[in-house]
Amino acid sequence: MKPADIHSLGATARTDVLVVGAGLAGLHTATLLARHGHEVLLVDRRTSLAGAIRTTGIFVRKTLDDFPLPPEHLGPPIRRVLLYPPDLRRPVSLVSARDEYRVGDMAPLYTATAATAAAAGVRIALGTRYAGRQDGTFRLVGRDGPTAVSARFVVGADGARSSVARDLALDRNHHLLVGAEEVFDLPGHDEPPTFHCVLDPTLAPGYLAWVINDGEHAHVGVAGYADRFPEGLRQALRRFSASAPGLASADRPEAVERRGGPIPVGGVLRRISCADGLLVGDAAGAVSPLTAGGLDPCLRLSEFAAAVLDDALRTGRPDALSPYDGAALRARFRGRLTLRRALAQVRTPAMAAAAFPLLRTPLGRAAAGRVLFGDKSFPTPARR
Ligand SMILES: Cc1cc2nc3c(=O)[nH]c(=O)nc-3n(C[C@H](O)[C@H](O)[C@H](O)COP(=O)(O)OP(=O)(O)OC[C@H]3O[C@@H](n4cnc5c(N)ncnc54)[C@H](O)[C@@H]3O)c2cc1C
Repeated sequence: MKPADIHSLGATARTDVLVVGAGLAGLHTATLLARHGHEVLLVDRRTSLAGAIRTTGIFVRKTLDDFPLPPEHLGPPIRRVLLYPPDLRRPVSLVSARDEYRVGDMAPLYTATAATAAAAGVRIALGTRYAGRQDGTFRLVGRDGPTAVSARFVVGADGARSSVARDLALDRNHHLLVGAEEVFDLPGHDEPPTFHCVLDPTLAPGYLAWVINDGEHAHVGVAGYADRFPEGLRQALRRFSASAPGLASADRPEAVERRGGPIPVGGVLRRISCADGLLVGDAAGAVSPLTAGGLDPCLRLSEFAAAVLDDALRTGRPDALSPYDGAALRARFRGRLTLRRALAQVRTPAMAAAAFPLLRTPLGRAAAGRVLFGDKSFPTPARR
């Protein structure tokens, strides 16, 4: 894939759609629009999509079933989840009869997805920052300075703190967790691939600490409300990493990859489109408020966005983006928002430990199984 140079596009470039952000949401939306025959310019401030990764990359079964992700960049299937109380003793073990998760090797996965986008006709400009809207054009700043781009529509795929949302006067994420993790290669061993989850509000206030060991890679991470980490996010990760379950201390090398970033958990935002454009992925708040999983939602919402934009570009109707309505999608998140509020209330290790006698009962195990292995995915908007 040869990235476009924005300056080769001319002083004022023109395109049907400018997509800001080449995470999975932006890449998928751009590819679908190009396949519909539209001109698409996709920009990202990162100079390489293989760097500054902000996700663990756990893909759930529904996503693996419904989207053609490159199998060579997915880790071994995971069927086993262990849920630990704060003292890490007697974890609750849940084993599914089906393959439930696979962890993406995200650097090559993003690169391969970008190559698919380019093959569909998307012009990709990396090292190019979206710097705002001015006099009906969009300002982009590349390595050699600024350029103005005129586009019929702009897509904000620029993550949880979206500048496009701000410029289009759309809703913005205010309810966020922050997460951080360490990633490293593993020498391989005989344990079955396992997702270890620790419920301890001193390590992960309002969420979970995790270890994923799929036999090829380890991910050790924590996430929670930024203002509730007793000693800060970094220290929580350091403390967890020193005693993380599911790994031998010899497994952890000196040098590890570090990832992190904000996670919107307030549910899909209400106003995610206007006459000039729309939001997808984290920018639209499309993340499960309970599990904080955003990869399935971003792919599904991108399909809806591309269908609505295709319709708008073909018909030229001024109200063509209005069916892209977050309020209608949000209504289907009520249950998950209630469970998020409940998880946010677990404020002490004693409260977390108190949940475990219930989790060990058949009813508790069934409820945990429904959350962890359920068939629910991001609600797919009705196809028109
Ligand atoms: C630590 C962590 C672990 C996670 N783990 C999982 C997981 O295992 N499974 C899961 O389902 N979800 C997970 N999530 C959530 C999931 O990663 C996100 O919901 C998903 O990646 C969102 O994709 P996106 O394309 O919307 O945004 P992003 O992947 O964040 O992409 C946004 C892009 O926009 C670019 N950008 C931003 N501003 C500008 C600008 N002004 N100009 C140009 N470019 C710009 C950024 O460089 C970035 O490439 C995790 C999140 C975090 C933080």
